[in-house]
Amino acid sequence: MNILITGAAGFLGSHLCDKLTALGHQVIGMDNFITGNPENLAHLAGNPNFSFIHHDVSNFIFVPGKVDFILHFASPASPNPASPLGYPNLPIQTMKAGALGTHNTLGVAIAQSARFLLASTSEIYGDPLEHPQKETYWGHVDPIGSRSVYDEAKRFAEALTMAYHRFHGVNTRIIRIFNTYGPRMRLDDGRVVPNFIQQALRGEPLTIYGDGLQTRSFCFVSDLIEGITRLMMSEEHMPVNIGNPAETSILEFAQTINRLTGNKAGIVIKADKRLGDDPQRRQPDITRARQILGWEPTISLEEGLSLTIPYFKQKMGMA
Ligand code: NAD
Ligand code: UDP
Repeated sequence: MNILITGAAGFLGSHLCDKLTALGHQVIGMDNFITGNPENLAHLAGNPNFSFIHHDVSNFIFVPGKVDFILHFASPASPNPASPLGYPNLPIQTMKAGALGTHNTLGVAIAQSARFLLASTSEIYGDPLEHPQKETYWGHVDPIGSRSVYDEAKRFAEALTMAYHRFHGVNTRIIRIFNTYGPRMRLDDGRVVPNFIQQALRGEPLTIYGDGLQTRSFCFVSDLIEGITRLMMSEEHMPVNIGNPAETSILEFAQTINRLTGNKAGIVIKADKRLGDDPQRRQPDITRARQILGWEPTISLEEGLSLTIPYFKQKMGMA
């Protein structure tokens, strides 16, 4: 197939480019590098299965030649206001990538009779009142809260995708991605995995925002990519959660990182630094992914972190 991947230079997009070129597909990467890094794609230069278009998906998209499948992953994705490239600092770009970018990529899908997959997020559930989160849960989101630019853009993107499916008959899929980590995460991303690993490798205490009792469920990137490719090949049009159901508190997570890195500097609890609208608990119910895709994660948190820490060491010039 000829596959267009928006957000190709990002963490997840670049892993998708690797997987789909290796499977023999012709991949066209598209990115404007707002949060992505050309280094993530450097190894694909000269690969006959890969080409690249530097473009902002919020503007009209033209792709020369046939496109059979579109994976729409372009969006700033970090919630941390301390990161200059997080969505609180790129609010308009985040809303445009989710709204106009989704509209433009769906337009390409109609024009090309291409199949379409939207990268949505567990953030559409907001600070959830149902636990674990099933796809049937409608969410608990403040429309003008500090995370709303991301949450509402993705909720709009899901609604638009379903509208194109129901009204125009576009062959669409929606994946709700839960916290994913692994090599190629940006160092200054501001998310908890890069922050904690770098603090630990520098021998500094890990800083927890809030009391550390908030939970997340972390999925290693190779498991996620396998789930995406299975959803691509399915005929499922309703949203599917993909994530690792192993739930951990941020405090336990910090202790695990300190143990795996041998960091003796401990942990600092910054109770007053709790981020606005920070979801208190997050855990995917992956019953649908198991039933429809025969998918479940295979990499444990410790295994995944052991594959991720060396990447950070190398990027920090320590290996
Ligand atoms: P990332 O920031 O590493 O990648 C996003 C990519 O999109 C970057 O390369 C960026 O330059 C590009 N981009 C942003 N706006 C663009 C625009 N207007 N035009 C063209 N390119 C643009 O983030 P990621 O973690 O790889 O996330 C990729 C997608 O997956 C996002 O849509 C995100 O919402 C979704 N997601 C990620 C996670 C996660 O845990 N990583 C969880 C849920 C959802
Ligand atoms: N967090 C933290 N210290 C950090 C970065 C994040 O305690 O240096 C917390 C953050 O407040 C949140 C959790 O870790 O409760 C996960 O944050 P992340 O930014 O990775 O993603 P989210 O799941 O909130 O989108």
